[in-house]
Amino acid sequence: ARLKEGLSKTKKNLTEQIENIVFAHRKIDDEFLEELEEILITSDMGMETTMDIIEYIKQEVRKNKLEDTSEIKNVIKKYLVNMLEEHEDKEPTENQQRVILIVGVNGVGKTTSIGKLAYRFKEQGEKVIVAAADTFRAAAVEQLKEWCTRADVEIIASENGTDPGAVIFDAIQAAKARKSDILICDTAGRLHNKKNLMNELSKIFKIVDKEFSEAKIDVYLVIDATTGQNGIIQAKLFSETCSINGLILTKLDGTAKGGIAFPIVNELKIPIKYVGVGEKIDDLQDFNAEDFVNAIFE
Ligand code: GDP
Repeated sequence: ARLKEGLSKTKKNLTEQIENIVFAHRKIDDEFLEELEEILITSDMGMETTMDIIEYIKQEVRKNKLEDTSEIKNVIKKYLVNMLEEHEDKEPTENQQRVILIVGVNGVGKTTSIGKLAYRFKEQGEKVIVAAADTFRAAAVEQLKEWCTRADVEIIASENGTDPGAVIFDAIQAAKARKSDILICDTAGRLHNKKNLMNELSKIFKIVDKEFSEAKIDVYLVIDATTGQNGIIQAKLFSETCSINGLILTKLDGTAKGGIAFPIVNELKIPIKYVGVGEKIDDLQDFNAEDFVNAIFE
């Protein structure tokens, strides 16, 4: 219900416009498709994904002899669910320890998402450790400590200004010693010096690869849905440094830009793992392609 509520503006933005043109045109023809194309592009779907959708519709029209514009919503839904599901990834093997590195630009909701994730995993009975490796932001470390207290999980942090690599190293040793199920690592996100940021991240990835190679390593990028197309730019940037295999899309509650989810997955070929639908500790949900598309289109 919260996903539906959260996406209500995205739905309004997208489906009302589609319904208007469906009402104005009865037949799926070039003119209709042109208008649809414009709606999709202006609703954060982006050029590439819009073209993919239009191409898919044309195929479906030919294949199934579709004519009536009232069928269009279902065709779009089918395309989007398939596309989102196609990019879902593998689960860790049983008993394998996990490391989740959380990356993203400051302000997107990294700290909050880590708190929510730690809480979720803990609730599911997993042993969780959090590493506060964004050592440059004292406030972020403090905030993360608060989340960890609330979630009742251990946090590995050190004094401000220490090398983030050292925190990660300590956290990995702790995860091994205490046989944690999941180690969640915060990382720096100051974008004003792109090169430094990317260097720092790649140092962290190297340490994890070397020190904890037996673990299933996931890198999740946090994207703020309210920033629209900027999210794609950020995802492309981070992809240059690390192989991101999951996305956390935050602040879906109350934004009309939830449609950004589609071009991000379609262009970057990275699955969305979780969606943030509020500021509270339990406001993080598993991403489900069908539920998500239905919340917007139904
Ligand atoms: P960080 O700088 O990336 O660590 O971002 P924070 O975790 O500090 O979050 C920045 C702001 O976004 C805070 O005010 C959070 O409460 C807010 N925030 C994070 N996730 C969500 C979400 O899913 N929904 C809403 N409405 N706010 C969120």
